[in-house]
Amino acid sequence: MKIGAPKEIFEGEARVAMTPDSARQLQKLGYDCAIETGAGEAAGFADALYAEAGVEVIKTAAALWKEVDIVAKVRQPNDTELKRLTKGKTLISFFNPGGNEAGMEAAKAKGANVIAMEMVPRISRAQKMDALSSMANIAGYRAVIEAGNNFGRFFTGQVTAAGKVPPAKVLVVGAGVAGLAAIGTSTSLGAITLAFDVRPEVAEQVESMGAEFVYLDFEEEQQDGAATGGYASVQSEEFREAQLAKFRELAPEVDIVITTALIPNREAPELWTKDMVEAMKPGSVIVDLAAEKGGNCKLTVADEKIVTDNGVTIVGYTDFPSRMASQSSSLYATNIRHMMADLTPEKDGQINHDMEDDVIRGATVTFEGEITFPPPPPKVQ
Ligand code: NAD
Repeated sequence: MKIGAPKEIFEGEARVAMTPDSARQLQKLGYDCAIETGAGEAAGFADALYAEAGVEVIKTAAALWKEVDIVAKVRQPNDTELKRLTKGKTLISFFNPGGNEAGMEAAKAKGANVIAMEMVPRISRAQKMDALSSMANIAGYRAVIEAGNNFGRFFTGQVTAAGKVPPAKVLVVGAGVAGLAAIGTSTSLGAITLAFDVRPEVAEQVESMGAEFVYLDFEEEQQDGAATGGYASVQSEEFREAQLAKFRELAPEVDIVITTALIPNREAPELWTKDMVEAMKPGSVIVDLAAEKGGNCKLTVADEKIVTDNGVTIVGYTDFPSRMASQSSSLYATNIRHMMADLTPEKDGQINHDMEDDVIRGATVTFEGEITFPPPPPKVQ
């Protein structure tokens, strides 16, 4: 069978779902590989590098979609791409199944099988295919780099002949995958790093990375995420008030705030209010990684960078992984390659779409003319 990656058509998207390295691995699984001309260019992978890796370079998207049995993509397909699906073809891509009924109906009508990368179950065995985590890791790292780029001062404290420089103080709100990556990046650059999460079980992880966990003066325990499969759920009003009071206290002290707080299938909680922004020092920076879901900061504008009247920069970009397209393409293409390894137990270049396999079942959203989303919970944790 042949697997191919078209050039992403979402405006500004620089990632690609197959790299020359991942193609070499896919060939070891028995597959022929193809890309559309220029598919990897924006991520730093020229056509010649693919050709050297034995990848066929196909001139147009239409021809690529026609020729391959498996299409690997990054972004959810648009209408033109959905029309290119045919019976028995497999698409592996982010697909947003929860908010893409029309896409699932289109794939079902065509008889195509769709594997949605955001649906890979978060169980240990599937970590190597977990594209949400690999992309969140990059977003967290890049958020700190972006903050540094907009912050006119050092992260680390210095004593120099020209004067003493205090270290920057960074607050990371939300210590999931992206938040932990931001914490690690911030501490390694030498900033004093504080972190808060509603799940107290992450405190130890935060502290082991050299950051300080922010506890609330609150009678109830910070929520135990074990009840919700490790994810946060909505907070009580009292808890929220205590959280906001703590943030209000910290706002004048911190130089950089990175917010990453999300609750699955909901708009992002608003945690950094207008008065907190107003209380921050001029030159401070907020990077809101929740911008795509409405933002954790009241003043965030998705996809934009704004500077407030009191001189606070608020970055609301929603494309951090694409801004590091070489790295993110390498990791995403590796996630896809591992998914393909799961789908090809015999390494014979033939897909064995085993719906009894927890990971494959969990991620499959259409199969043989049926919509198979949402999946049953995985049998193994
Ligand atoms: P996420 O992107 O859904 O949320 C980011 C963080 O925001 C979470 O830590 C959440 O607790 C926090 N948050 C939500 N509301 C908040 C609030 N009001 N204030 C402060 N913080 C708030 O999270 P994620 O990065 O996808 O990770 C969620 C969970 O999944 C974690 O327990 C993580 O360890 C787990 N996980 C497991 C695997 C695996 O086993 N393969 C892989 C990745 C993540």
